[in-house]
Amino acid sequence: MNQPFSITKWLSSLVYVPRCIACRIHMESEQPLCPECDFSWQDERDKAGETTLDDGTPLVYLTKYRPNTVTHSLVWRGKTQQLKRRADFLASQLAEVLAEAGMDCCDVIITHVPRSASKRRETGVDQSKALGQALAAFMGGVHRDLFSHHSRVQQKSLSDPAMRLENARKAYSIMKSCKHIAGKKILLLDDVVTSGASMIVCADLLRQAGAMEVICVAVARAKK
Ligand SMILES: [Zn+2]
Repeated sequence: MNQPFSITKWLSSLVYVPRCIACRIHMESEQPLCPECDFSWQDERDKAGETTLDDGTPLVYLTKYRPNTVTHSLVWRGKTQQLKRRADFLASQLAEVLAEAGMDCCDVIITHVPRSASKRRETGVDQSKALGQALAAFMGGVHRDLFSHHSRVQQKSLSDPAMRLENARKAYSIMKSCKHIAGKKILLLDDVVTSGASMIVCADLLRQAGAMEVICVAVARAKK
């Protein structure tokens, strides 16, 4: 039976062309990455691993954050433009790396290290939140906003680790309404972790609020 003609579908078919989520070249299929980016991604993805932050908190990450990589392109684009296909792709990859690391993510509440309110206003995007929501949909879990971020000082403008930690402590607070995290397992997500100060502070706040366990996860680990 013929499908009924839809003017909306017809118009979108004229303007919508699938593109690679990393390099943005036109594609003939809905695959997330073009063959060239996919080849590089497989190599970068082999660098997935685990490390510990300065306070000893374990961190699981997907790739290393280096210039001129697919990782860099995906993360950098995600900071300026929201794209569901990109968030869905990275969420599927994060779920894989969590399984590879043997993380038990049953009954987990997923949250994220939020971007500052000023950056969100400026760009209209909070990549870590989009990833958290996509990961929750992928794993069948729940995502919640648990933090406020009210700093105007960018972490990357501070070189001293102690100053970064101090700045992060002033920047983040936990929402008073989040009583439901006591005794729960929380998956704390960020797009890029450099010094780890933001993640250390947010994980601390979750533990102080009674979280039973905090699993820290990042798309990319950058050099300090
Ligand atoms: Zn590409």
